[in-house]
Amino acid sequence: MEIKKDYLNFAVGPVMMSDSLREMGAEPVPYFRTDDFSKLMLENEQILKELMDAPEDARSIFLTGSGTASMDAAVNNVFTPDDKLLIVNGGSFGHRFCQIAEAYHIPYDSICLEAGHTLRREDLEPYDGRDYTGFLINMNETSTGVLYNMLLVGEFCKKNNLLLVVDAISSFLSDELDMAQIGADVVLTGSQKALAVPPGVSMMVLSQRAVKRIESGHPMCYYLDLKAALKNQERGQTPFTPAVGILIQLNARLCQIAKDGLETERSRIRTVAEDFRRRIGKYPFRIVSQSLSNTVTPLSPINPQVSAYEIFRILKEEYGIIVCPNGGEMAETVFRVGHIGSLSVADNDRLFAALDDLMVRGILHF
Ligand SMILES: *Cc1c(COP(=O)(O)O)cnc(C)c1O
Repeated sequence: MEIKKDYLNFAVGPVMMSDSLREMGAEPVPYFRTDDFSKLMLENEQILKELMDAPEDARSIFLTGSGTASMDAAVNNVFTPDDKLLIVNGGSFGHRFCQIAEAYHIPYDSICLEAGHTLRREDLEPYDGRDYTGFLINMNETSTGVLYNMLLVGEFCKKNNLLLVVDAISSFLSDELDMAQIGADVVLTGSQKALAVPPGVSMMVLSQRAVKRIESGHPMCYYLDLKAALKNQERGQTPFTPAVGILIQLNARLCQIAKDGLETERSRIRTVAEDFRRRIGKYPFRIVSQSLSNTVTPLSPINPQVSAYEIFRILKEEYGIIVCPNGGEMAETVFRVGHIGSLSVADNDRLFAALDDLMVRGILHF
C-alpha cells in the first residue's frame, strides 16, 4: 500500500520536517549500549532542561511512545490511589488525563470548561483550600486551541501545595514556558509536535519533588516504570531498547535550537501564526478560542451550511494540503490550522491561494 506523503502539512503532529532531519531518518540505526549514545542522551537531558527553564536539580527522561505515554507514566508513577487530583478538562486532552486517572483508580475532580474557553481565577476558586494533592493541565488544549495562563495555575498550586503536572506537548518551543517560575513538578512533551522529528519519543522534565515521589513509589506499569528510567538515565541509558534513530534526530534538533536560541525558534513559529491570523480575517471563518497558543488556530465556518470536515477533505484530496479536522461533536463545525514544523509564510501563501479558489468555486462562502 503506497500512501501519499508529500502534502503541505498544517497538522499539529506529525508535522513537516527539515530536509536534514529527513535525511537522518535514512541513516543506519546504531547499537545503543555504548558510551557515544550515553553521551548523546545526557546532552539531550541537559538541553531539554535548559529549554524548559527547569531548576538545576531537575531530571529528565525519554520514553519510547507517543506523548500519551508520558501523560500515563506521570499519573501512575507520581500519584497513587491515596492522592486526589484536580484536572482541567477543556477538551479531548484534558479528558484523556481524566481517563488515565480512572485507569489507575486515582480519585479526581475535573474542572470542565466550555470549548474555546480559557481558565479564569474564578474557575479555580471553588477548589481552593480543599484536600487535593495534584493538579493536571494541558498547557495548550490542542483540541480546541486554548492556551491556559500557567502563572495563574502555578500560583494556585503553590498556595495549595499541589504537585503540578503540565502537559506542554503542543506548547513546548511555541509558547513561553518557564518550569521554575511556574513551579511545575512534571513537564511533558513529545517528539512529533514543534520538535518536528518523527513520532515515537515522549519526554518529561521532573522536579526533585517529583523525583522523590517516583523513587519512593511503586509504579503500576512495568514498561513505563520511571524509577527504572531515572536510574538508567543517570548514565544516559534506558531500561529497554529506545527509539534510537529518533533520539539521534532529536539530538540534532535540540543542539540546533540551543545554538540558535530558543527565542529564535519561538519567534519563527510566532511569525507564521501571526501572518496566518492577520490574513484569515478576510475569510468566512471565526477564530474560536479565547486565548491562542502560537501552535494552532481553531477555525469555524461563519455559515453553518459550510462543513468544516468537508473543507478538510477537499483541501486534502484536491489541493494536497492537510489541515487538522476536529473529531466528535465538533467535526462539522471546527478545523484547525497548525503553525509548527518546517513551515514558512510562503506556505501560508499556498494555503490562502487554495482558500481563494474555494471561494471562487462557491464551496466556501459567507
Ligand atoms: C499531541 C498531544 C498529546 C499526545 O498525543 P499522542 O498522540 O499520544 O502523541 C497530548 N497532549 C496534547 C495537549 C497534545 O497536543
